[in-house]
Amino acid sequence: MSNPFLDLLVVGSGGGPDETNLSAYLIKPCNASWEAGILALEAGSGQGALNQLLLRNPDLFSTSNTTPPVRHSASEIYSFVRAFLLSHAHLDHLQSLVISAGSLSGPRKRLYALKGVLEDAETVFGNRLWPNLASWDETDEDYKYLYAPLYNNGKYQELESFPQVSVKVVPVNHGYYETSGQYDSSAFFIRDNNAGKEFLFFGDVEPDSLSASPRTIDVWRLAAPKIPDQLNAIFIECSWPSSREDDMLHGHLKPEHLRDELLVLAKQVYVSRNPSAVAGTSRTSGPRTRPNRKKQKLNPEPTATPTLEPEALHGILDGLRVYVMHCKEQLDGRPGQPMKDLIVGQVRALVDAEKLGVEVFSVDQGMHIKI
Ligand SMILES: [Zn+2]
Ligand SMILES: [Zn+2]
Repeated sequence: MSNPFLDLLVVGSGGGPDETNLSAYLIKPCNASWEAGILALEAGSGQGALNQLLLRNPDLFSTSNTTPPVRHSASEIYSFVRAFLLSHAHLDHLQSLVISAGSLSGPRKRLYALKGVLEDAETVFGNRLWPNLASWDETDEDYKYLYAPLYNNGKYQELESFPQVSVKVVPVNHGYYETSGQYDSSAFFIRDNNAGKEFLFFGDVEPDSLSASPRTIDVWRLAAPKIPDQLNAIFIECSWPSSREDDMLHGHLKPEHLRDELLVLAKQVYVSRNPSAVAGTSRTSGPRTRPNRKKQKLNPEPTATPTLEPEALHGILDGLRVYVMHCKEQLDGRPGQPMKDLIVGQVRALVDAEKLGVEVFSVDQGMHIKI
């Protein structure tokens, strides 16, 4: 593994219904301390979950070069948070930020997300569901969150409260509602400006193959030329096991779709390394099927990739790590294998069979991952 540049602490990684383990990650540059500032990525679980993790392992945030180890409470750790980065406004990605809005200390915290996501969050902070503890006004009181929109303009945006990190946001599809249409989530390219390296983090996302307007392909096209030297880690959801029917995915992936998405990425990497191969292509990416409930016309297939023998892709994703998250647990009280282990095992078997060279990992609550 090349030199890590970011530390990532998993406060929660589940996709529900367990409210004690929902999407929430804390990030800092490897060369800085946690006290110097934390970027919180998603806010499903928060101080409560972290408090439980610290009871089990009080040295979770200690660095090996400090003796005696520095220990912090959950509320101290969250006081170091400078900004939250939110993929979409579903409660399993937002709820701890709402619940703790009145009790967080430390500097004023910015909420970075696409403008539509922030406007969704605003409906919660409307003095009905919850007091209004967030605003768009830079001059407002420190105790209020500050809405800080990210723009889908193809550029990396420096986070004002966290200048070592820049983020490029790309909207992705996360389900479809008859009343309001396509629902947007986000994928983030999160870059450490000093290291010049980045990783890719997906909010909830549906399969491009089932979407009326595929957009995940946009993310793969951007990622492909950077793999593996500049970008060697992808965090992506796989909410359901293989047994889930396609028309019951509710805007999420199951292992077969995640395998297919990684095959699309692999082809994009091939194209980026063999630009001349694009000439005389057949169209192989794009929608194949879709749930009956969608009424729109399918878009034409969005991209051309060469027809490749499977062997051409063998090893093409060498050096890439894929972290599988947001698995939906079953809390039926029956003993047995956790759903997360089943799902990650299915993903690994399907992906390994393609011999792409990518490694598949599970993301567990309390895990400290070096990126
Ligand atoms: Zn969601
Ligand atoms: Zn979710």
